[in-house]
Amino acid sequence: MKNSFITSNKSIWCPGCSNFNIQAALVSAFSELKLEPHRIGMFFDIGCTGNGCVSYNTYGFHGLHGRVVPLATGAKLANDKLTAICMAGDGGAYGEGLNHLVEAARNNFDITLIVSNNRLYSLTTGQASPTSEKGTETKSTPYGVNKIGMNPLSIALSADAGFVARGYAYEIKHLSEIFKQAIKHKGFSLIDVIQPCITLDKKNTKEWYSKKIYKLDKNWPSKDKNKALIKVQEWGDKIPIGIFFEGK
Ligand code: SF4
Repeated sequence: MKNSFITSNKSIWCPGCSNFNIQAALVSAFSELKLEPHRIGMFFDIGCTGNGCVSYNTYGFHGLHGRVVPLATGAKLANDKLTAICMAGDGGAYGEGLNHLVEAARNNFDITLIVSNNRLYSLTTGQASPTSEKGTETKSTPYGVNKIGMNPLSIALSADAGFVARGYAYEIKHLSEIFKQAIKHKGFSLIDVIQPCITLDKKNTKEWYSKKIYKLDKNWPSKDKNKALIKVQEWGDKIPIGIFFEGK
């Protein structure tokens, strides 16, 4: 069943890219939810994540940079039986496309936005993105990023998003469970997935993240938005993953 969602096309991701893990988690979620490939519309942004479009045996649309949310919104308005999934990176979703994220959250469009967040523009070989940490030296910021990295979960909650979560590409089962809940959620959902880029980022590696990441307690009060707003700020020695908020 899982294989019915995947094509035989050769992937152009680097061997070992953690986007493969996200793909495995998503396909597993589709399978467990017993979705049919022809009922799924996937909308891909520009970037390494977007290049995953060749791999899914669903309806798909590879759009312009930052415009993946309006594409999915339009398709969902035309066909409300569609499961609409947006795949974007941190550059497209939180840079070029941030206004679309905010409006989709405010309007509560029934789409799922999955963001592979490696805190870089990886397809173009590693420029700073909106989530890059202050001080990060890249080709586009040779003296270091001069501002703090944005917190997309905080922005989504403030824009009244009904489902806000963070996953980790190396916790595939946990991530798949988040995807299942997000797809079942009737309204806008954002899942920010920490996705270390193994080719370009030698600092924020799997080893670096794995020491810090922990799962929210199973009794986490996911209906309490005020607690979620505080919890999503935690980013340092400890980084929580899980469903911070599920409301309307
Ligand atoms: Fe994956 Fe990084 Fe390679 Fe892009 S550059 S395919 S994110 S490992």
